[in-house]
Amino acid sequence: MKHKKSWAEPYRIKMVELLKMTSEKDRKKAIKEAGYNTFLLKAEDVYIDLLTDSGTNAMSDMQWSALMTGDEAYAGSKSFYNMEKAIQKYYGYKYIIPTHQGRGAENILSKILIKPGDIVPGNMYFTTTRLHQELAGGTFADIIIDEAHDPKNLHPFKGNVDLDKLDALVKKHGSKKIPYISIATNVNMAGGQPISMANLKELRAYTQKHGIRIIHDMTRVAENAYFIQQREEEYKNKSVMEIVKEICSLTDGATMSAKKDALVNIGGFMATNEWDVYEEARNMVVVYEGLHTYGGLAGRDMEAIAVGIKESLDDNHQHARVGQVEYLGHKMMEFNVPIVLPIGGHGIFVDAKEFLPHLTQDQFPSQSLAAEVYIDSGVRTMERGIVSAGRKADGTNYYPKLELVRFTMPRRVYTQAHMDVIAESIANVYDRRHKIKGLKMVYEPKYLRFFQARFEKL
Ligand SMILES: *Cc1c(COP(=O)(O)O)cnc(C)c1O
Repeated sequence: MKHKKSWAEPYRIKMVELLKMTSEKDRKKAIKEAGYNTFLLKAEDVYIDLLTDSGTNAMSDMQWSALMTGDEAYAGSKSFYNMEKAIQKYYGYKYIIPTHQGRGAENILSKILIKPGDIVPGNMYFTTTRLHQELAGGTFADIIIDEAHDPKNLHPFKGNVDLDKLDALVKKHGSKKIPYISIATNVNMAGGQPISMANLKELRAYTQKHGIRIIHDMTRVAENAYFIQQREEEYKNKSVMEIVKEICSLTDGATMSAKKDALVNIGGFMATNEWDVYEEARNMVVVYEGLHTYGGLAGRDMEAIAVGIKESLDDNHQHARVGQVEYLGHKMMEFNVPIVLPIGGHGIFVDAKEFLPHLTQDQFPSQSLAAEVYIDSGVRTMERGIVSAGRKADGTNYYPKLELVRFTMPRRVYTQAHMDVIAESIANVYDRRHKIKGLKMVYEPKYLRFFQARFEKL
């Protein structure tokens, strides 16, 4: 008999960080004080922190040693050139502007490319990305395939673009009103779902015909490449590294939050293949971020990014990364917890609408569920539903189809035993789901309200 081969970590642990253990009584008090918003909890009161995979990665010994070589010169830092070289080599973009994180790049890019009245189609919105598009005077238009909005649909590439939706927009507004198509790899808001290479190639052919750019939100490009390798026949013998380069080659520029895929705690960049766009970005970065050879980053951060990019493209790393997320998802399914399928790349998304069918969307089911999971075990998750979706320009709420609680996995941080604790905790909450009450919002910030909104129990 042949036994199955498990995924396992291609590393071992060299240093540990001790965690505070809390009681249910402590946690009830803490979450109430935090206005039932997991963003407002103190991190030290959290046992397993799945709030986000952003900036929460464990760096390798090679990254930590690269930090020591950081060149902190104000201008012309050697560390910038190392980062630039890594981006050009592994992603293939020509011109690079460093920024403090992804939204810094989005701000600059949106201001340069979008004119008031423009339409920016994309494969599902992302919070900061759409906000910068709107602040620049643009309007986001969702062109992701319908399957992406259905948490039970098993489509292997739920990040794909529906070309008919795009074509309808081009016919209605004209290609001159569309400065670029915003394409995310491994679509965060759809649950970490990939776009296929076949779809991206089709999109590329369409946009070339109509003279429209593709701007790549490449925050999780390596995870997307791993799914292409696993699910697209033609790519099964290609490495993640090769696939990533091919994805980038089908786009004209990018914004990157290095805090995700690139295995660091802070950093990002904007990339473009167009000299004019680069010129303007190099000018603008000085206003918002810092000189064009540091863009708000310390030299040491840029060194860590250069090493992290390379490590993120290792097939074994991605196999263990996605394997761990899948392990957690399968455990939850054994307990009948409703989750978004197929299991995505950077976390498990629990379907709060199905979990708490007795709550209306105005009673914030995902927000409530995230609070309950924290009370049960000290596991911190986050809302991805009506609170995250925010309000439209006319002041009315967006009502997203998906109402989710995100269990996001930091890279290289937690063990399989932690995964068991998490799955058992959500199973406990599931058993008493009928007793869970909704929330009412008692404080609402103007921008990106999910970060700081406060709630009370109904
Ligand atoms: C995190 C993220 C961003 C923004 O990056 P920050 O580094 O948090 O500013 C943009 N797009 C996607 C898809 C993201 O996940």
